[in-house]
Amino acid sequence: MAPAASATPVAVSVWIGLGANLGDRQATLRTALTAVAGLPGTRVQRISSLYRSAPVDAGGPDYLNAVVQVETTLAPHALLVQLQAIEQAAGRERPYRNAPRTLDLDILLYGDQVIDTPTLTVPHPRMPERAFVLRPLAELAPDRVPEHLLAAVAAQRIDRVQDAGWAF
Ligand code: AMP
Repeated sequence: MAPAASATPVAVSVWIGLGANLGDRQATLRTALTAVAGLPGTRVQRISSLYRSAPVDAGGPDYLNAVVQVETTLAPHALLVQLQAIEQAAGRERPYRNAPRTLDLDILLYGDQVIDTPTLTVPHPRMPERAFVLRPLAELAPDRVPEHLLAAVAAQRIDRVQDAGWAF
């Protein structure tokens, strides 16, 4: 039998990567987390430590990175649109590929779903190459980050930031 039209959508666990390398980076990430927490049908579950990483294939100052785990009833593309609005609100410009950015939000994992559309690819296609994604993600979801992937990015410079003020 088809579910009733009013059936509550099932919440899915989603991991979102956050990065900032311009301006007051920590404040930007904090504002972004507040905005994510306020998305419709969305609840923040856990936030990783804060990390500092060297830009990959790009210039500019170091990035601050983190990963947030949410539970959301937003469908994948609806979530992407919402995250892009949060990026825009942070004043992000895209003058060229991999340009330094005020705020970058990526959908890393959406439950167990595999999504391959022109605007959205999940798991995020560049995740396996990036220590700044794998390290914080491994804190929250170690079963989703195989050891061999962490080993492969071990040479990338990334430090866990000891900042008592980061707890959200
Ligand atoms: P970037 O400049 O790295 O933030 O890339 C943004 C573009 O990546 C957007 O046009 C998105 O449509 C696309 N995109 C594809 N897959 C994802 C994903 N998993 N999370 C966020 N953006 C994605």
